[in-house]
Amino acid sequence: MWYLRASVTIVLLSRYVSAWWTPTNEDEFDDKTFYIDGSCKTDNAEGRAFANGWLHALGSSHAVIQRLASQNDRDFHAFFKRIMKRTVSDPDDEDDLDEIMKWFEELALLRIIIPPEDLASADIRVFCDNEPISTTGNPNTRLVYINEHRVEDRLNFMAVPLSQTCLYSGLNGYTATSRHRIQTLWDGRTDHGQKKDRMVISLCKRGLEPLKAPLSREFDLSMMNSGIAVDYGVRWMFGTAAHLIVHELMHALSDSHLGDLPDPAQAYGWHNVEPMNALAADQNADSYAFVADAALLAPLWTLTRIGATAGCPDAARNEDNAKKGRLRHYADRSVPKKREISKVTGNETEQSLRVRRFLEADPQFVEIIEESGI
Ligand SMILES: [Zn+2]
Repeated sequence: MWYLRASVTIVLLSRYVSAWWTPTNEDEFDDKTFYIDGSCKTDNAEGRAFANGWLHALGSSHAVIQRLASQNDRDFHAFFKRIMKRTVSDPDDEDDLDEIMKWFEELALLRIIIPPEDLASADIRVFCDNEPISTTGNPNTRLVYINEHRVEDRLNFMAVPLSQTCLYSGLNGYTATSRHRIQTLWDGRTDHGQKKDRMVISLCKRGLEPLKAPLSREFDLSMMNSGIAVDYGVRWMFGTAAHLIVHELMHALSDSHLGDLPDPAQAYGWHNVEPMNALAADQNADSYAFVADAALLAPLWTLTRIGATAGCPDAARNEDNAKKGRLRHYADRSVPKKREISKVTGNETEQSLRVRRFLEADPQFVEIIEESGI
């Protein structure tokens, strides 16, 4: 008995997007090292939040680089544009993209100091000691109270305003950079042997302690569900340790070139980052943290796509959803999709034949790459 069974594999081509941005050669970056203090490696909720956050903070930098360089990942490019106001395929934005991405590229190259005791040779030092402060009479903590305005970090040779310590501020974390370095401590010890370009990140207990469900310090993609995606969206990520750590690492890697802009009151959170102009976004650490968040969410969740058709009734509603940071579940666009369609006679409907004829007529949509049968 003769029958026709032609199996046709077709590739639905994503409309070609030129990715102008390409990663920089690794050799062009300084190799930076980090040290993690024992206070971050505790067996409690804060320690678990730190471990989870550190892992995802470093991992997200690789994901940001990979997705931005992808020619298919239009969802991530749209997310990136909403935060940084830059278009991945626009040659006019190429230089700005390089400037923005160099911080993620440096983050991706960070390596841990071995042996871990070698604090003095680390570029970036991370502490989770919640900064207890002792006095010069009995200096038994990292921070020592010098006067009503100033504390000194006797391990890292830094002087920090008292108002910017965990004890006296509402901050979740704080990064001391070049302007805080000192060469001599109150007791006359000098910074001999210390890395000249050292940076110190202090994560406060309030930035790592558990949050009320459904919020969480620990990022886990499986925790994101449609309820959280609508009620909180990307704002959910703001509470994660990963977000906090990327934020502080951006201050540290850039020596405060990336700050809290335009001012600390308007720098944090999606409601500030989303409407921010390009010049502020470029230099705002929290904007970078949201880019990293987007990369962590990207395999499953992204901002609501805005209707491409002008006058589409959903466009206004979708724009409103995206502004609010609401997330939706779409198929991962970072890889081209192959779809197999079997041509079996007798199963077609009028409509399926019409759709097929339409697609096959235009190589922009469908390319027949293999045909077999009879
Ligand atoms: Zn900050």
